[in-house]
Amino acid sequence: MKDKSYYLVSLGCAKNTVDSVSMATLLEEAGYSQVDKPNQAGVMIVNTCGFIHSARQESLLELRGLAARKRTGQILIAAGCMTQRYRELVVEQVPGIDGLIGTRRWMDILDLVRDLRQRTPVQRYHIPEDATVGRDEHNVLRAAIQGSSAYLKIADGCRRPCAFCAIPLIKGTLVSRPADTIVEEAQALEEMGVQELILIAQDTTDYGHDLGVHDGLPVLLERLLTNTAIPWIRVMYAFPGYVTDRLIEVMAANPRILPYLDMPLQHAHPETLKRMRRPANMDWVHNTVAKMRAAIPSLALRSTFIVGYPGETVEEFNTLLDFLKEIKLDRAGAFTFSYEEGTASQPLGDPVPAEVKEERYKQFMLTQETISLSRNQALIGKVLDVMVEGENNGVSVGRSYRDAPEIDGYVVINDKAPVGQIVPVLIGGAMPHDLNGTLVKP
Ligand code: SF4
Repeated sequence: MKDKSYYLVSLGCAKNTVDSVSMATLLEEAGYSQVDKPNQAGVMIVNTCGFIHSARQESLLELRGLAARKRTGQILIAAGCMTQRYRELVVEQVPGIDGLIGTRRWMDILDLVRDLRQRTPVQRYHIPEDATVGRDEHNVLRAAIQGSSAYLKIADGCRRPCAFCAIPLIKGTLVSRPADTIVEEAQALEEMGVQELILIAQDTTDYGHDLGVHDGLPVLLERLLTNTAIPWIRVMYAFPGYVTDRLIEVMAANPRILPYLDMPLQHAHPETLKRMRRPANMDWVHNTVAKMRAAIPSLALRSTFIVGYPGETVEEFNTLLDFLKEIKLDRAGAFTFSYEEGTASQPLGDPVPAEVKEERYKQFMLTQETISLSRNQALIGKVLDVMVEGENNGVSVGRSYRDAPEIDGYVVINDKAPVGQIVPVLIGGAMPHDLNGTLVKP
């Protein structure tokens, strides 16, 4: 075990991944090296997720596992969203934890490690209540590179009132990063060979609101188009009601902005949406989807939904299923409602029985699977550009513009293709989530 070595586990969403990479950068700048086995590390860090119950359970499991195998001289730190909101629970559930650092102060990881080294075994909390995300980021690149793709964080925190969501309680309100910094980082990523830039935030369509910039996302996209030559730019986490005409115009006019949009809708019945404190104007949803599809014929649309929300009747749930059949999304995921203390939905309790939630989840996924399959089948005979991510024995795998990493499908290419490159593939077959095809040779 080398003192100046660290073992880092990153849980949760891509935004947490970026924070993990940023902490790793600071540690490496201070001479630490990453190891892939916990018993070799002087410092062990788990960047936790605290979004919903199951995510917290996963975080505790990871921490307890490391604590149980911790050896003298090793330091165990819990970072991230669960730590920010449930510090007492982490300390109570993970005997042997040495330090806790909140998601809003990831940039102080070095100070905490130094502190612990000097004064272990005194437990150290570093979770300042008043901290604001996105402040003094130490010029650390706020991106996570995976192959030829990179997540780039454009903002953090959220000002939306969604009743079921704990993120504003964890991250605080929206803080947009300066556009100049984002453009500089995109240029740096381009120099590192990045071919796909994935813009992330809790709500990308709110980018710039706190900076007084109207329609900040399309403005930022235009700057990225002008100042880089990165071939693929992908937009995640759009908020319904804020997909503006300007955003649609910029996407339609620029093929480098992938014809792909992830827009979590959460439900489709106005009464359920009102109880969720989410935009409930379904005419807007239908009109905007129609407008987007007219302007961007090859658009791939992804969304996410919650089933089993308090008060969800059979009629409300069937409305959601009917909506799926009508709107025909390319990709759709679902969560069963997770009761979250401190959120606006707390007074509603959790009345929908677990087995009913599970049954609705199954029905939802089955319904969507049929739709996704038919959307995929419509691509047979078409040529799609595919970012190649792996190759083995002459079979390659990659993602098309329709596939965001980690949440969507893949394209299996029955040919040897250059990893890291974007290549044309003739689609020959379709499955509910994936496609297969052959390389179009010049
Ligand atoms: S938009 Fe709503 S669901 Fe998304 S992070 Fe903000 S409060 Fe949570």
